[in-house]
Amino acid sequence: MRCDVLAVGTELLLGQINDTNSSWIGDRLALHGITSQLQIKVGDNVGRIEAALRYLLSNADAVIVTGGLGPTHDDVTREAIAAVMGTELRLDEEVAERIRQLFAGRGRRMPENNLRQALVPIGATIIPQTRGTAPGLICPVGEKVVYAVPGVPHEMRDMLERAVLPDLAHRRGEDVVIASRVLKTWGESESGLNERLDALIARLDEEGDPTMAFLARGWEGLEVRLTTRRRTAEEAAAVLDEWEQLVRAELGPLVFGVDGDSMESVVIDALRQRGLTLALAESLTGGLVGSRLTAIPGCSDVFRGGVVSYASEVKFDLLGVTPGPVVSEAVALEMAAGVRRLLGADIGLGLTGVAGPTEQDGMPVGTVCIGLVTATGSHARTLQLGTVRESVRQFAVINSLDLLRRHLQHTAV
Ligand code: ATP
Repeated sequence: MRCDVLAVGTELLLGQINDTNSSWIGDRLALHGITSQLQIKVGDNVGRIEAALRYLLSNADAVIVTGGLGPTHDDVTREAIAAVMGTELRLDEEVAERIRQLFAGRGRRMPENNLRQALVPIGATIIPQTRGTAPGLICPVGEKVVYAVPGVPHEMRDMLERAVLPDLAHRRGEDVVIASRVLKTWGESESGLNERLDALIARLDEEGDPTMAFLARGWEGLEVRLTTRRRTAEEAAAVLDEWEQLVRAELGPLVFGVDGDSMESVVIDALRQRGLTLALAESLTGGLVGSRLTAIPGCSDVFRGGVVSYASEVKFDLLGVTPGPVVSEAVALEMAAGVRRLLGADIGLGLTGVAGPTEQDGMPVGTVCIGLVTATGSHARTLQLGTVRESVRQFAVINSLDLLRRHLQHTAV
């Protein structure tokens, strides 16, 4: 089974938006064991969309088209598909009524052109909308099929998971459950992970299932994704449980979470489990650590707050740092101790460093010092995090959260 992808939108060609939809679709198809060999971008032009569709259908069994299903005159995906099917568009009364009701429910007048979204090629099946107004379409073309889904990413993802992938699986005549688990790691390079997992990878190569893939996420770390195809969801879950344990046994504390976890959610959970509170003193990160933690609703039970002590005097006057150069482990620890005292927290975390573009106090760009102070002790680290200001700051954030996470999960704080 081969399924190719066509992304529609002149803005994609002009570089005004990135075609993240095709990448996401490619990832899901691969996960489901469906080959995708060609992904094309085309502007909002009915003739060119039709030509691209015909070209893709000459080789692929199925094509997913994303975009161009909106209400305006330049949304012409429907017309192009109807031409490829050799059929006409007709107004689907049910879809039209749903769109009218959506507008009425919001107390808004419906511009007449919204009914364009209720035009459906004769012979096509509708994928109902649950989020926006344009329905998706399943359009048979002889033995083959074209799926049309909206360009808006969350609408596209919803329809793909809910209707397109199950339909592809059905067409393939395979009744299997495909499940995956992502183990999130921080602190090791891709080749380092590979080396640690060498024996397991060799075993997987031999057995063929599950499969293991690495995904580099920049300053969010590296993901190890396990995917299995089984007859039932229970069987799949059991296989993933077993392999998660095998991978964890090799990687130990490098693994900070699974699936929907983020470094900050793991830190918040660990603080909660241990009944501890946190205060931050941030210099080069200017509040980025606090911002990530407070993106999680309801964390005020464990996160007391922070001080953005960017100017040296604030470090000295407010946090009690000894006057002098401000990029050192000693200063990071004094900042952590100061903010811990000031905000009445169990743990203080301090970050100081040189984000660039120029060196400071004789320390090179990229030097970052992190200090952690608790009731029973303290811990500091100095890192070299490159030369690009934004990545120095972001890597400082994730490294400081990771230091805290390891302390919370693996030491008596
Ligand atoms: P709707 O009918 O829900 O408005 P649509 O099918 O008309 O959707 P478009 O008008 O083509 O979709 O795109 C809507 C928005 O979706 C774009 O402004 C863009 O932000 C996003 N989008 C469209 N195509 C892509 C793509 N290939 N990758 C990422 N984002 C996209």
